[in-house]
Amino acid sequence: MDHGIAYRQQVKLHEACGVCGGYAQDQPLAFLTCFALYALQHRGQESAGIVAGPGEGRKVWIKKGMGLVSEVFPDSADLKGVVSKLAIGHVRYSYGQEGRNPENTQPLKLRYRYGELAVAHNGHLLNALELRAELEDQGAIFQTDTDSELLAHMVARQGSELLEDALAEVVPRLKGAFAFIVTDGRKVVGLRDGYGFRPLSLGALNGGGYFLASETCAFDTIQATFIRDLAPGEMVILDAAGVKSRQVIAPKHSRLCIFEYIYFARPDSNLQGRNVHLVRRELGRRLAREHPVEADIVSGVPDSSIAAASGFAEEAGLPYEMSLVKNRYIGRTFIKPTQKMREEGVDLKLNAVQKIVEGKRVVLVDDSIVRGTTSLKLIAIMRRAGAREVHLRISSPPVIGSCYYGIDIPDAKDLIAYNRSPAEIPTLVGADSVGYLSLEEACTAVGLPGSELCSGCFNGYYPVLP
Ligand code: SF4
Repeated sequence: MDHGIAYRQQVKLHEACGVCGGYAQDQPLAFLTCFALYALQHRGQESAGIVAGPGEGRKVWIKKGMGLVSEVFPDSADLKGVVSKLAIGHVRYSYGQEGRNPENTQPLKLRYRYGELAVAHNGHLLNALELRAELEDQGAIFQTDTDSELLAHMVARQGSELLEDALAEVVPRLKGAFAFIVTDGRKVVGLRDGYGFRPLSLGALNGGGYFLASETCAFDTIQATFIRDLAPGEMVILDAAGVKSRQVIAPKHSRLCIFEYIYFARPDSNLQGRNVHLVRRELGRRLAREHPVEADIVSGVPDSSIAAASGFAEEAGLPYEMSLVKNRYIGRTFIKPTQKMREEGVDLKLNAVQKIVEGKRVVLVDDSIVRGTTSLKLIAIMRRAGAREVHLRISSPPVIGSCYYGIDIPDAKDLIAYNRSPAEIPTLVGADSVGYLSLEEACTAVGLPGSELCSGCFNGYYPVLP
């Protein structure tokens, strides 16, 4: 059957990156940062890196490379030997050619007039081209294609010896989404953009010192205690004196990416005080109310949709069953940057449990449909296993636009919901029916008004444009 979309174009949304870092007097900071990166691994699997600094005077230590945290740091216990009062870390997801360039691994480390500077970045700068052109006109030579290097150059040129002063001067010139962690080997500085698109939280290390991380699950891994999320536009400075805070960008209305709740963040993380797993379950409950259907079982697409599927099953009074099994020994679909490699990944990754599915009317819950090719494949798998009916339920609204803030959403024309009504989608993906959660219900499930979340790819309202 021609579903109107090619099988080989399979894609899920991709996170931007994960960042972390901390300062403490008597802690194995490089080692702790490595474990925090393990917790943030879901935010990027293409490269990992750590920069650690001994504090005053001496050179910083750096190790980074392509691959998973476990591949870049195979002997994490060795990191206990890295003497450091501070460390910053990064896991990277990137797309296109840029992703395959080892030079773009982070943290990025450069030398400047006051010593060394290392930067880890999650997000995307909308005025990167403009800033790069301006710096190149002034003679700057770039080593990478990353936005992070722009910040490093701007800090180096600003002239203040105090890192936080230099950052406070240059950061207001950045437009877009960013959570930065920066160090000069003496202190660690964390920053969020004025809308707070990407998360960044502050925690206290057990035994003294402070730590910053993209998600709170990293604190649990290293036994740190969550203190608070950084406010939009806030800069936090961690050094020998403890923690200081400065508002460096006038805060706008907070606009945390709603997809962090729906799909990106780990279920054991809390964002703005809301547990991600519980939000997802609530998304599923509301989905069941908005799009009820006569069925025998409910299943979730592993892993990110299981919570929403369990909420759907609870609300609908239907049994939750594991219809799909994921092979955990194959990397996430988007670990491979080419379409062909992605395709091979999905083929190997999921299989239906025939004895569960056979002859049943199945509600299959997924967190999103992007191009529609993954849904097409999943439904084909269920039908091959003997499902009598497959009703696709999506715990987010139709994705109709791209993202300007660092999430790898294809161009609008490649999105299945772009310029199509929801009624056209079942035929395209081969489902008996498809139901999307409304944006209003999604915001209610999160517990925040729509005006405090970014939902640009769902409704075309982008808080800031290039
Ligand atoms: Fe998140 Fe979509 Fe906004 Fe991008 S446009 S930040 S993916 S909600």
